[in-house]
Amino acid sequence: MTEHQPETGDFATHLGALGRRLDEQLSTGWTDAYDRVDAWTSALSGPLPEVGAGTAATMDDLLEHLVPNGMRMATPYFWGWITSGPTTAPMVTATAAMVASPQRGSLTAWNLLEEQSLAWLADLCGLPEHFRGVYSSGGSTANLVALGAARQWAYEQIGIDPAVDGVGGGEQRMRPTIYASEQVHHTINRSAAVLGLGRSAMRIIPVTRDLRLDVAALQAQIAADVADGCLPIAVVGIAGSTDTGVVDPLREIAEVADEFRVWFHVDGAYGLPGILDPRVTPLYDGLERADSAIVDPHKWLNAPVGVAATFVRDRALLHRAFTQEPAAYLEGAMSTDGVRVSLDAMGVPYGDLGVELSAAPRGAQVWAILHELGRAGVRARIVADDDLARLVQRRAESEPRLQVLSPAVLSICCFRYFAEGLTDPDQVNQQILRRLARETPFIVSSTVVDGAYALRPCFINARTGVEHVEEFMSTVVRLGDELTT
Ligand SMILES: *Cc1c(COP(=O)(O)O)cnc(C)c1O
Repeated sequence: MTEHQPETGDFATHLGALGRRLDEQLSTGWTDAYDRVDAWTSALSGPLPEVGAGTAATMDDLLEHLVPNGMRMATPYFWGWITSGPTTAPMVTATAAMVASPQRGSLTAWNLLEEQSLAWLADLCGLPEHFRGVYSSGGSTANLVALGAARQWAYEQIGIDPAVDGVGGGEQRMRPTIYASEQVHHTINRSAAVLGLGRSAMRIIPVTRDLRLDVAALQAQIAADVADGCLPIAVVGIAGSTDTGVVDPLREIAEVADEFRVWFHVDGAYGLPGILDPRVTPLYDGLERADSAIVDPHKWLNAPVGVAATFVRDRALLHRAFTQEPAAYLEGAMSTDGVRVSLDAMGVPYGDLGVELSAAPRGAQVWAILHELGRAGVRARIVADDDLARLVQRRAESEPRLQVLSPAVLSICCFRYFAEGLTDPDQVNQQILRRLARETPFIVSSTVVDGAYALRPCFINARTGVEHVEEFMSTVVRLGDELTT
C-alpha cells in the first residue's frame, strides 16, 4: 500500500481516541477558544503543504488544536442559539452513515429507516398519517422546500407550472404574497427570495399582547391583497418562535387560510416536539390542518447539526416542484427485470423531492433517537426542558431585581435584571450577557421583547440540570448588582 492510500483498521484507532477526547472534554466542563486564539491560529494557519503530514499527524492536530477550540454548544451551560450538542446514539449513528451508507438512495436498511423515521417523527409531533416527508440539512432548507410546494400549488391553481415556466410573465404578474407574524424566522423571508417570489412578498402581520399572530389583522390583510389582485402563496404559523417560544393560534390561522384557499405552513423547526408536553399540547390545536410543516431534529431532539424534515400533505407536489431531469448515469444502471442487488432500486426518490441529490441517510440518526428513548423518553426530555424555563420564570418572579419579559410557553423564558431607578436597563443587561460569556460557563442569547433588551435562555440541551439553572439565576443577580453599585 502506498503512502497516500488509507489504511483499513485506522477507524478503530482514531475514532476510539476521538471518543475518549470528546468524553473528557464534556466531563471537564468549559474553556473558551478565545483564551487560546493565538496558539491555534499559529498552529493551523499557513500555506497548502506540498508534502502531507500523514493520517496520524493530522489526527493529532485534530485532537490538539480543533477539538478543544470549538463552540461550547454541547456543554450543559449553552442555552443560546437553538442548536443541539448531540447525544451519543444519533452522533455515533450519523458517523457510521458516512462510511456504511454515504447515500440515502437504493435498497438498503438505511433507506428503509429514512422513510420509517419520517413516519415516526410525524407521529411523534402529532401530524396526521397522510403526511409524507423529506429530510434536508436544516430549517432553512426545510422551509424552502415547504414553500416550494406552496408555490407549486398556488400557481397551479391559476394554470401555471412554476417549476417549468417560472413565476415571471403573463397572468403571473399577479403579485405573490406570504403571510407571517413579526416573530417569523428570517429563513422564511430568504425562502421567498430564493423561490423568485421576492422578499417584498412578505406581509408581516402584527402580534397580539401574547406575541401570537393577530388573526383579525391577517384576515384583513389577505382580503385587501386579494382585492388588489395579489396571489397569496402561503400563510405561515409558527409553532415555537425562535425568540420567545410562542405558538401561533394555529386553528384560527387554518380557518383564515381555508377561507381564502391559501396554503397553510407551520414552522416548527424548534418547537414542534413541544406538543409532547401535556401542559401545552392544546396550543397545537389545528396543526393537523396544515398543508406543510417542518421540524429540526438538530434542535430539540439533540441530533447532530445538519438534519431537518419537511412534511407535506401531498408529496407529489414536491415531486412536481423539485424533480430533476433523468440522468443516464443513474437511471441507466437500474434493473428492468427485477431486483437482484441493492442498486437495482432507488427506494423513495428523495433526490426529486427537495434541492439536494447526494445526501447522507439522515433518517437513521432520527431513528436512533426514537429507538433509544421512545415517545415516553422524548416526552420526558421535553417536559424537563419546559420545567427549566418555568424555573427561570419562578426565580425571576420572586427575585425583586429580576423581571420576566416573556413567560415560559415552551423551553424559553425571557427576563432581565431590573431595579428601581435603573436608568439604562438595556445596557446593563447587555453587559450581563457579555460578562456571562466571558467570566462564567453560561451562554444565553438576547432578544428584544416589547422594546426591552432581554436575556433569553432556551433549554434544549439534554445535559442541562436544575442545578445549572439555579446557579445561572444567582449569577445574573450577582453580575447585575456588581454592575449597578
Ligand atoms: C432555527 C429555526 C429556523 C432555521 O433553522 P436552521 O436549522 O437554523 O436552518 C427556522 N425557523 C425557526 C422557527 C427556527 O427556530
